[in-house]
Amino acid sequence: MTDASERETAARLADRTRSLERSKIRVMFGLAEEVRRESDRELVRLEVGEPDFGTPDHVIGSAADAAREGATHYTENAGIPPLREAIADTMARESGVEYAPEQVTVKNGAMEALSLSMLALAGPGDEVVVPTPAWPNYVNQVQLAGATPVTVPLSADSGFDLDPERVAAEITDDTAAVILTSPSNPTGRVYDEDAVAEVAAVAAAHDAYLVADEVYGRLTYDREFRGAASYVENPENVVTIDSCSKTYAMTGWRLGWLAGPEPVVDAVTSVGESTTACPSSVSQQAALAALTGPQEPVAEMKAAFEERRDYVVERVAEMPVVSCPRPEGAFYAFLDVSDLSGGSFEVAERLLSEYGVVTAPGDGFGDAGEGYVRVSFANSLDRIEEGFDRIERMVRDER
Ligand code: PLP
Repeated sequence: MTDASERETAARLADRTRSLERSKIRVMFGLAEEVRRESDRELVRLEVGEPDFGTPDHVIGSAADAAREGATHYTENAGIPPLREAIADTMARESGVEYAPEQVTVKNGAMEALSLSMLALAGPGDEVVVPTPAWPNYVNQVQLAGATPVTVPLSADSGFDLDPERVAAEITDDTAAVILTSPSNPTGRVYDEDAVAEVAAVAAAHDAYLVADEVYGRLTYDREFRGAASYVENPENVVTIDSCSKTYAMTGWRLGWLAGPEPVVDAVTSVGESTTACPSSVSQQAALAALTGPQEPVAEMKAAFEERRDYVVERVAEMPVVSCPRPEGAFYAFLDVSDLSGGSFEVAERLLSEYGVVTAPGDGFGDAGEGYVRVSFANSLDRIEEGFDRIERMVRDER
């Protein structure tokens, strides 16, 4: 038997598969599974990036009914017209961005929408600017498109706020796109509109797109959120990405979308014809029910996340040595553990092996995240409390 890495070396694979960085979140997930199998230890899982709630019942019911009634076939590549319309209406209502249904293409999650946007917008010789710490998939998506990721570390001193000058300095005529995530995974930061607008203007001046990943846009706590396309000077240079995953607790349905200028939307739809053509017909029905049905479940989940966010902020404030930028959105806190010994990965490993808490090491979000670990508060208050008790024990033991 050869192990996986030997098999990979021996196999004849395309070079692009070798440059892919493995997500450290998945690495921690694998290590946690090992610990669980080998020690039967009860772990607190704070590494996961998905709501702990189930999909609202009415969504599941509508999808099941639709499937029974025949919604089990391929659909139009860009998604069924009522869903594209519902997405355009929801974006206008919830984040102030105005798109016609023809400017929306429905895909298998924000992940596919982002991957296809890179294939459509960037290729060999092009650069894509990614401020970090950032969700790790972007860099791989850019590389798979044959383009070059240009990561721009944001400053920890400002709580990883968007620094428009620093980002603008990396935008050149080779830049095809700049990817901004607000609210941010992993920091929970919601960027100032002025800063986003400044980056968008520089991108537009270089004929580059701003790809605004707004999957956490409806989960903000301290300030109202508006989509970038609603306030930048050149909305025709903005591509907006969103999905049902985080807002409606629908990660497994794999339903997201891209909205933007029609030529980009058409290009993404056409590239997508060679991958999956269209998203799952049943998931499209579920998304239609989620977007057009009662929104109380969203409000309830958001209220629960906010309560947990407040609890986490309180616990971190009481803890010696550790601090974190105040999460203004999403469900992550990015803890500064740089005063503990070892790098982020070692801290995360010790938290797992000695204290039974699973976190995501900050360096998995780019070099700027070194010295941090991400904890997700998409877990019950009880589990978060237990997790923070253990983190605090480790901090006090190691001081
Ligand atoms: N963008 C960000 C910033 C994310 O954190 C995630 C998932 O964790 C995604 C996109 C992907 O979302 P989806 O489930 O819609 O593919």
